[in-house]
Amino acid sequence: MPDTQKFDVLIVGAGIVGATLACALGGLRLRVGLVDAHVPRTQNDGDKIEYDLRVSAITRASENIFKSLGAWQGMVGRRVSPYRNMRVWDTEGRGEIHFDSAELGEPHLGHIIENRVIVAALLDRIRSQQNVSLLLEQTICEIVDGDEAVTLRLASGATLATTLLVGADGARSQLRKHAGIEVRGWSYGQQAIVATVQTELFHQETAWQRFLITGPLAFLPLDNGYCSIVWTNVDTKAQRLMSLDANEFKLVLSDALDGRLGAVEWISERAAFPLSLAHADSYIGQRLVLVGDAAHTIHPLAGQGANLGLADVAGLVEVISMALGAKKDIGKHNVLRRYERRRKGDNLAMMAVMEGFYRLFGTNVAPLPYLRNTGLDLMNRAIPIKSFLARHAMGLNV
Ligand SMILES: Cc1cc2nc3c(=O)[nH]c(=O)nc-3n(C[C@H](O)[C@H](O)[C@H](O)COP(=O)(O)OP(=O)(O)OC[C@H]3O[C@@H](n4cnc5c(N)ncnc54)[C@H](O)[C@@H]3O)c2cc1C
Repeated sequence: MPDTQKFDVLIVGAGIVGATLACALGGLRLRVGLVDAHVPRTQNDGDKIEYDLRVSAITRASENIFKSLGAWQGMVGRRVSPYRNMRVWDTEGRGEIHFDSAELGEPHLGHIIENRVIVAALLDRIRSQQNVSLLLEQTICEIVDGDEAVTLRLASGATLATTLLVGADGARSQLRKHAGIEVRGWSYGQQAIVATVQTELFHQETAWQRFLITGPLAFLPLDNGYCSIVWTNVDTKAQRLMSLDANEFKLVLSDALDGRLGAVEWISERAAFPLSLAHADSYIGQRLVLVGDAAHTIHPLAGQGANLGLADVAGLVEVISMALGAKKDIGKHNVLRRYERRRKGDNLAMMAVMEGFYRLFGTNVAPLPYLRNTGLDLMNRAIPIKSFLARHAMGLNV
């Protein structure tokens, strides 16, 4: 095949996870290709108020990954918003837990960053790496598995061959389907409504989260005093809320947060995302590996999905580096299996913890409201437990 472009690693999906992996593997001097069906939107069109509706709470561990790749400054230079406090309380508002970075001796608990900003900074870095090729707006028509390489045929007519193919193509991964890897999980029958809002009172660089019986509501601090909201509701209520006009929605929204930030004075357009839990039976196939949402999706209540995907990246890069050092074929099953073993346990553990939280806060059947309120208050007073939880949420215990 004379026109075949050859790669060591071909990554499908230029979201947060795939772009981070491309950046990291570029540093290993491998021939890397990053394919996406779209051109990621990376500009804010000069409008300061037009925030990306999709934001991520980025842990300290993920921040360190971006720093090590030289991408962090590109994010800070655009806009990021540190949060130094986190306040969590429930429907009845009797129990509350408050995390304060100063109490923990840390400068902050993490940053809220627009997904578009993260990807933009990563793509800047990738464009400066000569061994990484960006193949955007490409449709994959065919994937052919071979003993020595996997071949992809694109709608453009191009043919790509790679030693290792990485599926970073999100929850509905085409590559996962191609490899015949099953997923286990369920739909929560819930949707997360996201929007940008301006509130009467300053957010105090605090991530506010109230657990309502119909699902959690988070106000995440952005710069300029704006907040990004993530409001999870059962499908029927989410649809009702989406059908309200902006003024009606602003009223119910400030009420749902107990009025802690006063009135909601301005709101952007809203979008709703159906929520599900999914975990791939296997993270690997023939010369193929899955990372990020292609391997696992979790409830966004603790903002850990992208952070888990970034931990996958760190794990995979380490395994590939070791294989290169030992002059092993990076696409071989025994190499990829090491990555799978390393990541599956951590991902499943985080999924189990999130499910525990989801169920603890998702019902009012006795004695759960009592346990919840008492538990939150006890945790708030038990400094070692609180510190452990906070360090775990920052990704500093893992
Ligand atoms: C409401 C909400 C709030 C969240 N908040 C947080 C948070 O605060 N913190 C956090 O850590 N996580 C959060 N998450 C989770 C987080 O958004 C995801 O885990 C993360 O974005 C997954 O990144 P990814 O790169 O794996 O996949 P994706 O972001 O889905 O990217 C996949 C990429 O692959 C491309 N692609 C797909 N199919 C193909 C194909 N066939 N060919 C070529 N390209 C393809 C797509 O165009 C896309 O660019 C949240 C999720 C939701 C729904």
